[in-house]
Amino acid sequence: MNIKELIDGMDLSHLEKLKFDLESENSLTKQLIEKRMERLRSDGFKVCAVCGQDMRDVPMGFTLIFGPDDFKKQAHFCALDCLEYFQKKLKAMAAGEEENEAQQEHE
Ligand SMILES: [Zn+2]
Repeated sequence: MNIKELIDGMDLSHLEKLKFDLESENSLTKQLIEKRMERLRSDGFKVCAVCGQDMRDVPMGFTLIFGPDDFKKQAHFCALDCLEYFQKKLKAMAAGEEENEAQQEHE
């Protein structure tokens, strides 16, 4: 549906309200449109966590859900290569943390 169709489908009282609102300084319509856009952007725009590829261009991607139950994080990957790379990085990070802990014990 385009904007003309949307407007053509409205009756006079709705159009009057809409026009009045659009002309007001704090247009509720504009706020609603901005909120909706923000929402759609955060929902729909996903990129590969490794290479930044737009996931909408990827026919079959992967999603990894990780972290504690109350703070689940999601990461998207365009290909197995990227998923593997991410896993290696996580492993290296985990190993690094263990090393730090071990060092602290020695001190
Ligand atoms: Zn990727």
